[in-house]
Amino acid sequence: MAEILKGAPVAAALGEKMKKDVESLRAAGVTPTLAIVRVGEKGSDLAYEKGAVKRCESVGVASRSVTFPETVTQDELLDSIRALNDDGGVHGVLILRPLPEHIDDEAVRRTLAPGKDVDGITDGSLAAVMSGKGTGFYPCTAQACMEILDYYNIECKSARVTVIGASLVVGLPTTVLLTNRFATVTNCHIFTKDVPTPSRGAEILISAAGKAGLVGKNHVSPGQIVVDVGINFTSEGKMVGDVAFDEVEPIVGAITPVPGGVGTVTTSVLVSHVVEAAKALS
Ligand code: NAD
Repeated sequence: MAEILKGAPVAAALGEKMKKDVESLRAAGVTPTLAIVRVGEKGSDLAYEKGAVKRCESVGVASRSVTFPETVTQDELLDSIRALNDDGGVHGVLILRPLPEHIDDEAVRRTLAPGKDVDGITDGSLAAVMSGKGTGFYPCTAQACMEILDYYNIECKSARVTVIGASLVVGLPTTVLLTNRFATVTNCHIFTKDVPTPSRGAEILISAAGKAGLVGKNHVSPGQIVVDVGINFTSEGKMVGDVAFDEVEPIVGAITPVPGGVGTVTTSVLVSHVVEAAKALS
């Protein structure tokens, strides 16, 4: 039976680290504050927002919801982001994406001040992923994968790692962060001809494709570490990852559950970025 790599202890450890900083900031009259920008009422956005608000509360970080109807114009949205950039009482801004199709995502990313980009969506943040420096923050989910590996003492240096998924949100930054930690990384995406072979051959397999059941018994091997980033919903509304858990868990050495794995850590990383931003901005 595989070891279950739960997210809760990783999140708790991150929370403990943050508490001291939050106390010092508050003593100096600064309440670290996250603004969450949401367009519409999508279930996945509401769920993520609720988790982020709860996590903020647990460490004494304040949050503010800035909501718009689906019909919001691009100008209205950009004006509100500019106002948040200029608002000294806001240290981090999370913009729930994907945005409706009539909004230019690129323009939104360009408008957000990199110093408040706690979700790691601006070009400044992505440059920081490549170089390890610069203004901005690593994309939260990619960093959450690294936090999990570190917490459970899983060595990245020299490890053979396969990452499934190449988005700017998760797959690509995770691939780069692992490479920067001296792992040897194979990245798979929708046009990869044979995903099972590099997946099976990896010591660490990270799946961030957003396809329920994509990773089955043909993708894994004994002793492997499996990190399941995927969040998918079955027709019955059950949340599942990319990994066919029941099929894979008896084979591998360790695996993150869904729910209760990477997602739990992602919101903690987000809040830690708000604290870091508050420290840098005050
Ligand atoms: P995305 O759709 O932007 O990217 C998916 C990537 O997977 C693409 O690079 C695509 O080429 C690749 N892919 C898709 N199907 C594939 C297949 N059959 N074989 C190989 N590669 C395939 O999605 P994203 O924003 O990167 O999110 C990926 C998943 O992670 C989603 O399920 C999302 O809900 C989840 N997610 C989880 C968290 C968390 O905190 N746990 C945070 C963000 C995203």
